[in-house]
Amino acid sequence: MDTLTAPPAAAEAPRDTRRQAFEANKLSKKLHRQVGQAIADFNMIEAGDKVMVCLSGGKDSHALLDLLLSLRERAPVEFELVAVNLDQKQPGFPAEVLPQYLRSRGVPFHIEDQDTYSIVKRLVPEGQTMCSLCSRLRRGILYRVASELGATKIALGHHRDDMVVTLLMNMFFGGRLKGMPPKLASDDGRHVVIRPLAYVAETDLERWAAHRQFPIIPCTLCGSQDNLQRVQIKAMVREWERQYPGRTDNMLHAMAHVVPSHLMDARLHPFRTLQATGRPDAGGDIAFDDDASCASPDPAPQQTIRVERR
Ligand code: SF4
Repeated sequence: MDTLTAPPAAAEAPRDTRRQAFEANKLSKKLHRQVGQAIADFNMIEAGDKVMVCLSGGKDSHALLDLLLSLRERAPVEFELVAVNLDQKQPGFPAEVLPQYLRSRGVPFHIEDQDTYSIVKRLVPEGQTMCSLCSRLRRGILYRVASELGATKIALGHHRDDMVVTLLMNMFFGGRLKGMPPKLASDDGRHVVIRPLAYVAETDLERWAAHRQFPIIPCTLCGSQDNLQRVQIKAMVREWERQYPGRTDNMLHAMAHVVPSHLMDARLHPFRTLQATGRPDAGGDIAFDDDASCASPDPAPQQTIRVERR
């Protein structure tokens, strides 16, 4: 057939494929850069570490393992990875999916069988969300497994949006300026927990999971609903991001640029004993400046309080 007269659909196909490959390559570079940056910024992984990657089977933990495997190939330090899945005995849990996948990727792994599903079902009244108790039980089991495996770090698949949503949840419902840290000592004091996806947007993880065709296992087999408040805040953050692109990154950036002197926690700043210093501070309080820094950067009209200079 004369290629010049080929039907348009056939002619478009290679261009679509090239475009998809280009986009996938761009996304891959972005994800590797962001994860590498988070690991470096918070010194998450050191030479000789044995990193236990908690693999639930959802898109986030799949992406976490995938990216760590690939970053390890080019990392300047040597470290081990071991994937751990907790089989919580939810009805319909496809127990063979993750072992098959992990074998195909050549990843050392451990499947921990613990029937937390029955415990949660028994203890949580019908109609209430089971996630909080379920997560608590899971955390305790994973810490124990980390000790048994000799893991020095526990890697979780929380991402940028989880961190921002948690910050807002704590502000709105907990009355605390507290987020979800990229690295922390576990509450039993025996482990270091890391979140290498701290800089990664959830939408990018969704695209990566689709591109890499991970064998996803939904976290809804138990029939529980996620916390309604979290669902609402997540939807709000997504809507903000749609209307004002960059807002979620700005909130994450704010979590890394805290100014205790301009908040209200007297434990972090000596408000009670504060004295005039006699020295001007260029980075100090500009609340009395009636310049554009007080105005909303958003296109939507917002009331701006202007303070008259005397
Ligand atoms: S959805 Fe089910 S399995 Fe997932 S955290 Fe909630 S209770 Fe646990």
